[in-house]
Amino acid sequence: MTKKASLLFAAAILFFAGCTKRSDQPATASTENAEESEVMQKNVGEEIPEEPNYSSLLLDVLAKAEIPQDISLKIQESMAENSDFIQDISGILQDDPYLWILVDKEHSLPENYEPDDLVKLKKGSYKVNKNGLSLRNAAAASLEEMAVAAKSKKLTLTVSSAYRSYKYQTNIHKRSIKTLGQKAADRGSARPGYSQHQLGLVVDFGTITDAFAKTAEGRWLLANASSFGWSLSYPQGYEKVTGYRWESWHYRYTGKELAKFIETYFDGIQQYALRFLHEWVQATALPLQNDTEKNINS
Ligand SMILES: [Zn+2]
Repeated sequence: MTKKASLLFAAAILFFAGCTKRSDQPATASTENAEESEVMQKNVGEEIPEEPNYSSLLLDVLAKAEIPQDISLKIQESMAENSDFIQDISGILQDDPYLWILVDKEHSLPENYEPDDLVKLKKGSYKVNKNGLSLRNAAAASLEEMAVAAKSKKLTLTVSSAYRSYKYQTNIHKRSIKTLGQKAADRGSARPGYSQHQLGLVVDFGTITDAFAKTAEGRWLLANASSFGWSLSYPQGYEKVTGYRWESWHYRYTGKELAKFIETYFDGIQQYALRFLHEWVQATALPLQNDTEKNINS
């Protein structure tokens, strides 16, 4: 996506987010009968716009996003208790859209999407396993912050993989199919365009094997990454939900706000939260959805 398209996309999202807060209908211009004219006056005179009916919208979105019953009920209860849920959503949606955009087995990035603020990772408080690894600026800064905290516990985080271009992912996936066969390859490696790594917001830590989960670094990340704005994308026992086998090493930078949102409302399951936001944006942005899609795919 070009920078212009990305800005357009962000602007469209902002516009939608703004729309949901306004009153649903503008006053009608027709004055054919007294009743309509009265309605019009009432609308004109209203100072506080009517809040849209979030509870029916919420139910609809929860169902479309296939959020499990227990999480769904918890969210409805928290809404009923007047939590910050809606405010949290609009805060997140006003941030960089690539922090929350859904990239999974069914939702891809365009072939030409390449972040425009990639920075080369230099050995900092963390180790880098090979040369030439890069991440988007904000993710790199946050990684350093997290690595400093890990270091204070005498742990050194090791980055083994980070940003991957569409082309690079094409080669990885081809190689994976060759050695493992199509089915096994699809469990562990994304088709080009469908990899979160193309976002420039993802790090694979350590050995990239299941053994990583048992290391001190793996355990520390599982317990602490979200407070630095990172979220485990493919947790254990959720292959049916995420489409990927457990990857104890693969973390996506979502920013602190979204990471907290995932923990607070979605039991730490990133896929549920991103699917929810995806459906939320579609549901609240219906009239302009085609434009958004055009922008995403341009
Ligand atoms: Zn990965």
